[in-house]
Amino acid sequence: MKLIKWLLITFALLIAIILFNTLSFTQEQIELTPLLDSSLIDQSAVTTRLSQAIQHKTISFADKSDRKPESFYKFHRFLASSFPLLHQKLTQEKINDLSLLYVWAGSDKSLKPMLLMSHLDVVPVAQETKNQWTHNPFAGEIANGIIWGRGAIDIKSGVMGIMEAVENLIAQGYQPKRSIYLAFGHDEELGGEQGAKQIAKHLKAQKLTFELILDEGGSIVSNGVIPGIESPIALIGIAEKGYVSLKLTANATGGHSSMPPKHTALGEISQAIVDLENNPFPANLTYSKQLFNNIGPAMDTIKKAVFANMWLTEPIVEKILSASQTTNATIRTTTAATMATGSNKDNVLPTQASAIINFRIMPGETINSVTHYVTDIIDNPNINIEQLAGFGNNPSSVSITNNANFQRLKQSIYRVTQDESMIITPYLVMGGTDAKHYSELSDSIYRFAFNRFKPETLGQMHGINEQIKIDDYLDTIKFFREIILAMN
Ligand SMILES: [Zn+2]
Repeated sequence: MKLIKWLLITFALLIAIILFNTLSFTQEQIELTPLLDSSLIDQSAVTTRLSQAIQHKTISFADKSDRKPESFYKFHRFLASSFPLLHQKLTQEKINDLSLLYVWAGSDKSLKPMLLMSHLDVVPVAQETKNQWTHNPFAGEIANGIIWGRGAIDIKSGVMGIMEAVENLIAQGYQPKRSIYLAFGHDEELGGEQGAKQIAKHLKAQKLTFELILDEGGSIVSNGVIPGIESPIALIGIAEKGYVSLKLTANATGGHSSMPPKHTALGEISQAIVDLENNPFPANLTYSKQLFNNIGPAMDTIKKAVFANMWLTEPIVEKILSASQTTNATIRTTTAATMATGSNKDNVLPTQASAIINFRIMPGETINSVTHYVTDIIDNPNINIEQLAGFGNNPSSVSITNNANFQRLKQSIYRVTQDESMIITPYLVMGGTDAKHYSELSDSIYRFAFNRFKPETLGQMHGINEQIKIDDYLDTIKFFREIILAMN
């Protein structure tokens, strides 16, 4: 009897804790404040300039022979003529010929500078999708309140938005206390090795560090982009995953396939791939927890109870997140076998077989730790494991969010949207941005572009019919104006 009594008390206590956590799991109360600068933006002028910017084919082609530096020079000249005040007031440097770095000197040299980033290049338009565009991708057409074309979202609107904000503030006679750097790489879509990486090197050589760095990455999503949540969510990237490809190679004596060994070189490589797929990297729910802490309160009661009690439910949440390939990528280093070779004739045993496995590395791990893990799992001395030459980078640093800079960023977003139902949350960026090259230059590197996405418009980035609403573009400019003022 005593045991049953104790069991009942324990059970009641458990229910009480779960209920208490669920009921106190509420959304942050937002107090909306007016814009710091509510002066009008000349809609027709800024829209025309963005349209013209889209017409500059600053395309990053993977094949070097296709690249056209002249289109970047032309774009530089266009920027100079479009923003005369900016080009008078700020100093400009060309980095590696095609990237641009501007400095707006602040009046108080004791303050750490801030840095606004974007990139000049765009991805190509795939030949086979050309006829699916309802508007020519490089015409910058304006129709029905929308500006169309490659770069409308990614990210001529960012380059032009920053410049419009600065030009506008200078026209109003504004002088920042804190120096403001503007950095525009020219090869973000190819990894930023020649652009952002060189700019960062140049800044490092001057022993500079920044109070805040703002790049693209997250944006505002709504209408169920995250299932179960209707309110808009502003996702602010605070870190991004790393990237490495490992080449596995097995050697064998070869010979005729009529009398094969139990495992050919290709068989050994295949076993290694199966072992890697069956032994995923351990889960790390740090970023998911941060996200769920912010969006959980807006979910239905059951989900709320789950996310409010992660101390109890974490193993279940981990299972659910692991089950879908999209959410799995947010909680662990991913393993993707992408290429393989064996013998080049059907009746010849391979003397060598190889495979390439691509890994997207979770912050906290490194190229080295991934290589060790892979070696342990494969556990076959006959398989050589080496990093594929060329591209590869460790995960970025993780920016802090419990500081004034993150608050200033949040407030700037709220001032522009004036929407207290909006949820603002840090998250982990899955793709790569130029910001990764700046990891050592600030502890407040945030990845957020003021774009609004719905489920049906998400694919426009790098896809067909890329477009931005004029209203959203005006908000982009306002947002840059607000963050500049908020940091001063
Ligand atoms: Zn981009």
